[in-house]
Amino acid sequence: CGIVGYVGPRESQDILLAGLARLEYRGYDSAGIAVIDGEGSLGMRKKAGKLGRLREALEDKPLAAGTTGIGHTRWATHGGPTDVNAHPHLADDDRLAVIHNGIIENFSELKAELEAEGFAFRSQTDTEVAAILLGREYRASGGDLAAAFRAVVRRLEGAFTLLAMHEDHPGLVVGARRNSPLVIGLGDGENFLGSDVAAFVEHTRRALAIGQDQIVAITPDGVTVTDFDGAAVAVEAFEVSWDA
Ligand code: GLU
Repeated sequence: CGIVGYVGPRESQDILLAGLARLEYRGYDSAGIAVIDGEGSLGMRKKAGKLGRLREALEDKPLAAGTTGIGHTRWATHGGPTDVNAHPHLADDDRLAVIHNGIIENFSELKAELEAEGFAFRSQTDTEVAAILLGREYRASGGDLAAAFRAVVRRLEGAFTLLAMHEDHPGLVVGARRNSPLVIGLGDGENFLGSDVAAFVEHTRRALAIGQDQIVAITPDGVTVTDFDGAAVAVEAFEVSWDA
C-alpha cells in the first residue's frame, strides 16, 4: 500500500522507516524493508502488524548498515496478513528483493508456469510471482536488471507499482508502474522513489512524475525513465508544495 526507495550516501534504514511512517495514513497490515549493505549483501526484515513490530524486529536482529534500500507497507489482497506474506519478497537465491503495490491479475497462470519449471514459492501472494519471474528474467538477461524488468512488466496484467534491487548492483533501484502511482524525489547525490511524495518530502521537494507504463532506474547521481520497450520518455518535473 505504501512504497519507498532510496539510493545515496546515507544509511537507508532510518530514511525507509521514516518514509513508511509518513505513508501510514493510507492504512496497512504489514511492513518490511530490504537493504544492500556495505559488503554488497542483501538483508531483509518484515513483519505483520504495525511499523512498531518491524522496528522491534530490527532491534532484536539489526540489519547491517546500507545505503541502498526499499521499504513497503502492505494492504493484503492475495494471501493473509502474515510475516511470510509481507513484502519484500526475495528471488534469485535471495539476492534480489521486490516490493509491490496493487494486484497482479494473471498471477495464477504465471505461478503455474514457474512451478512447472521447478521454481518454489514461500508465500501466497501475487507479488512473489513477479519476484520469481524477475529472478528468472534477470538470469536470462545475463544480469541486466532493467532489461529483466521490461521482460517482466510486459507479462503482468493488473495494477502495479513494483520496485526491485539486486546484490549485483548496489546503488541501483529499479521501478515500474501501471495503474498505480510512482514518483521520483531528486536529491543531491541521492535519489528517492515513493508511492507518493509523502515518502520523501522531508528530504527533497523536487520531484518527477512517472507516467503510465513506465520504468525508472535511480542511482545516487542519476535517473532514467523509459517505456516498457526501453525507449526514453520525457518526464515532468514539479515542486512539491509546502502543504503536501
Ligand atoms: N497484492 C499484493 C499483496 O497482497 C500487494 C498489496 C498492496 O498493495 O499492499 O501482497
